[in-house]
Amino acid sequence: MPVKKLNTTAHSAKLLPLDKMSLTQLKGVGPALAKKLANLNIFSPADLLFHLPFRYQDRTRLTPIAALQPGRDVVIEGEILGSAIVFGRRRSLLVKIKDSSGIANLRFFHFSAAQKSNLADGKRIRCYGEARWGRSGVEMFHPEYKVLASGESFPANQRLTPVYPSTDGLQQNRLRNIIEQALVLLNRSPDSLKELLPQDLLEDLHNSTLHEALNYVHHPPKDAELSALEAGTHPCQQRLVFEELLAHFLCLRRMRDRARKEKAAKLSASRSLIPALLQSLPFTLTAAQEKAFAEVSKDLASNVPMLRLLQGDVGSGKTMVAILAALQTVENAFQVAIMAPTEILAEQHFLNFMAMLEGSNIEVCFLSGKIKGNKRAETLALIASGQAGIIIGTHALFQDEVVFSQLGLLVIDEQHRFGVHQRLALLEKGQPHGLVPHQLVMTATPIPRTLMMSAYADLDYSVIDELPPGRTAVNTLLIADSRRDEVIARIREACAQGRQAYWVCTLIEESEALQCQAAEATYTNLQQQLAGLNVGLIHGRMKAAEKSQIMNQFKSGEIHLLVATTVIEVGVDVPNASLMIIENPERLGLAQLHQLRGRVGRGNTDSHCLLLYRKPLSELSQKRLTIMRSSNDGFYIAQKDLEIRGPGEVLGTRQTGLMNYRLADLSRDAHLQEDIHRWAGRIRETHPQIIDALIDRWLSVNQQYGTV
Ligand code: ADP
Ligand code: MG
Repeated sequence: MPVKKLNTTAHSAKLLPLDKMSLTQLKGVGPALAKKLANLNIFSPADLLFHLPFRYQDRTRLTPIAALQPGRDVVIEGEILGSAIVFGRRRSLLVKIKDSSGIANLRFFHFSAAQKSNLADGKRIRCYGEARWGRSGVEMFHPEYKVLASGESFPANQRLTPVYPSTDGLQQNRLRNIIEQALVLLNRSPDSLKELLPQDLLEDLHNSTLHEALNYVHHPPKDAELSALEAGTHPCQQRLVFEELLAHFLCLRRMRDRARKEKAAKLSASRSLIPALLQSLPFTLTAAQEKAFAEVSKDLASNVPMLRLLQGDVGSGKTMVAILAALQTVENAFQVAIMAPTEILAEQHFLNFMAMLEGSNIEVCFLSGKIKGNKRAETLALIASGQAGIIIGTHALFQDEVVFSQLGLLVIDEQHRFGVHQRLALLEKGQPHGLVPHQLVMTATPIPRTLMMSAYADLDYSVIDELPPGRTAVNTLLIADSRRDEVIARIREACAQGRQAYWVCTLIEESEALQCQAAEATYTNLQQQLAGLNVGLIHGRMKAAEKSQIMNQFKSGEIHLLVATTVIEVGVDVPNASLMIIENPERLGLAQLHQLRGRVGRGNTDSHCLLLYRKPLSELSQKRLTIMRSSNDGFYIAQKDLEIRGPGEVLGTRQTGLMNYRLADLSRDAHLQEDIHRWAGRIRETHPQIIDALIDRWLSVNQQYGTV
C-alpha cells in the first residue's frame, strides 16, 4: 500500500473524520464552549451528532387564534391592534393581536422601550409560545416573536425544531446551531462518519443508513410521528440505539473471549486469613453471602480468569464478599485492587477494610487523585514492590504510572453509576507476568431478569438475595411539600433522640451547578429552621478534602442533619442515621430512590424515608412513588417500575439509573436484544473488521473517564 501523506494544511483538516476532529474547528466554538460541551460528554462533532433531541417543537404550521388550546406550544401570526403598559400585580406590556379568526394577547413582563416601540400598531407579527387562558382571553407569556416585513409569508416546507438536553449557560439556539454545523459537515463529506453496519444487516432489519437516521432525528419532516419520536421509538432512533447496543454487546463478548484465552493466577482457598476473620466478626455470613462467596472462591482457584458480576441490593453485604475474595488473593501472595466510582466511596471502602483487617499484617493502601506529592510516590512504590496487598482507590488506579507487582484480583464497585462494559474495557491494559487479574464487578442495580441479558450479556453472575438479619424495613411516607413544617418537626424529634438525618436535594435540570446552588439554598434555610442543630452540606462541587471532612463529621455524629445532592448518594454507611428526606422524589428513577433510601435502615432503630413531593403529582409519578412506599425490595421495585412505564413515557436511562448508555434505554429497547444477539454472531463471523470501529465509536473510554 502506498504510504499516505499526512497533510496538515487547514483546508484538508476539514476532511478529518468527525470523531477525530476538534470541536473548536466549528464556527463559534472556543475553549469555553468546548468545556460546556464536555459537560454533556460531547468532545467531537461526531458526539454532537449523537446528541439527540429529547423533544421537538412544531413551528411548521400556523394555528388560527380561535383554535388555540391552552398548554400547547404553537405559532400564531397576526396584526398588532394596540399595545399598552398595564399595572397589575406586576407591570407588564400587553400587546393585542388579531388574525382572521380571533384576538389574542401577548404579555411581556420584561421589555425595553425599543421593544415596545417596535411593536407598533398595524405591524404583522409571528409568535411562538405556549397559549394559556388569561383574564383577557387567550394569552401568550413572553413568546418568541418576529415582526414581519410587509409581504413576508409563512415559510413552506419546514421541519420540526429539535430541543436538545443542555447544560448551564448553553442556550438552545447555540447548541442547535453547532449541531447543525456538524450535520452540514456530515452531509458535505459523508465519509467523515462512516456507516459501520453492513448492508445485509440494514436490509435484513429494514434499517435506515446512519446518515439518513441522523438527518431524520435532528430534523424530522413536519409530518413525522411526534409521539414516537418523543418516546424514542421511531425507527430512525431505534436504528441508532441498535448500533449502540450492538457495540456494547460485541465489546462484552470480546472481553469474555479474551479472558477465556488468557490465564489468571490460581488462587487456592484460604486456610488462615478467612477463618480468622470470620471468627472475629460480630455476625455470621448470610446464606446468600456464603453462596456468592463460594462461587467467587471457586473461580479464583482456577486459572481461567474470573469475570463475575456480584449483584445485591443495597445493604446486602457485598463488601463482605469482596473482603473475603481479597483475603483469598492476598493469602496467595497476589495483590488486590478495588476501584470505586467516587472518592467518597473509595475512602469508605478503605476505612472498612482497615477496620476489618486490623491486627493482620496486610498492607492496605489508598490511591486517588487527591493523593499527591510524596504520599503518592510512596504509595506507588508500595504498589510496585508488591508490599501493598490491597489497594483501594478511584479511577486513578488505572493510570499508567500505577504499576502493580502482581495483580491477582480486581474488584470494581460500580454501584449503579457506570456500565460494566466500560470498566471491563479498561482492562485492556496488559499485565506483567502474562497473567490477567480475576475480576469481580459489584453492582447494587436491581436489574430485572428480563433485562439481565441485555445488560450483561454472558458474564457469570452471583446474587445476594437476602439482607442480613435484624434489618428493619424503612418506613416510607409520601408528604406534600406544603407540609414541610411537619417534616422539620420530625427531624428535630429524631435528632433529639440522638439520631441523625439526611436531606437529599434532587436534580432540577441536567446541571450539577444548579443542583449545588439549590442544595446551598436549602442548607441555609434548614440551618435557620433548625437552630440548635448542626446542619452540614455536601455536594459534588466541593473539594475532596472538604467532602471527606464533612462525611467524617457526619459519621462521628457531630453533624446532625446532612444536606446532600444526589451526586454523593451512594455507599455512605452511617448506621445511626435513621431518617431521610428526599425532596422532589418524582424527579428520580425508582432504582435511584431505592439506592438513596438504602442509606437508612442500617442500624437497629426504626427508620423512615419521607418523600417530599411537590403538588400536583402526575398520575404516573403517584403510581411510582406508591411503589416505593409499598416495598423495600429492589428487584420488585425495578420490575414494577418497568411495568408501569408505558411506551409513551419518556424516561431516559439516566433517570432509571440502570446503565450508562448514550441513547439506549434498556427497558424501552429490550425488544432489540434478539436481533442484536443474532447479528453479533454474524458480524463476528463475516464482518469482524467493523468490531473495533463500533466499539471505538460507542464505548470510547478516554473521553468518558478523562475527568474521573
Ligand atoms: P452493600 O455494599 O451490599 O450495600 P455493605 O457491604 O455495605 O452492603 O453492608 C452493609 C452493612 O451490613 C455493613 O455495615 C456491614 O458490616 C453489615 N453486614 C454485612 N454482612 C452482614 C451480616 N452477614 N450480618 C450482619 N451485618 C452484616
Ligand atoms: Mg456497598
